[in-house]
Amino acid sequence: MSAVEALDPHIAYCGLDCSGCDIYRGTKLEDGQLLQNYADKVFSQFKIEIDPSTLNCHGCRDVRPKSGFCARCEVRACAIDRGLENCATCEDYGCDKLQSVHTAMISVGKAVDGVATASLNLQAIRQEKGLE
Ligand code: SF4
Ligand code: SF4
Repeated sequence: MSAVEALDPHIAYCGLDCSGCDIYRGTKLEDGQLLQNYADKVFSQFKIEIDPSTLNCHGCRDVRPKSGFCARCEVRACAIDRGLENCATCEDYGCDKLQSVHTAMISVGKAVDGVATASLNLQAIRQEKGLE
């Protein structure tokens, strides 16, 4: 089993599993190459330069500051304000903020058959809870 597979899932407010993110994995595993991989991906896709030494994340549901896209996320702040474990149980599930984050994830390939994996994770939670 690889070190990556050894990480437990960490389901974010938006439904993303942080254990698949190079920033989270790089921080948890203290692996600078994973942080460099993230910086390289961002440069390749968006031509934005990031110093990998500034990347640090202990997961969406951890209180410590986030890096990259997640540092500016409105979904996280909203779910925290509402006291929710994640967006799956929100009375406004599927709101514009959530859809916007999921759309951004689709654009960077975090999707299956055109649906953000984060969205699929929230749908599964809703089904488990009998909300769909
Ligand atoms: S996009 Fe927002 S809610 Fe999703 S993992 Fe990042 S900070 Fe958390
Ligand atoms: S309003 Fe939208 S972003 Fe906020 S907690 Fe509900 S579903 Fe998530």
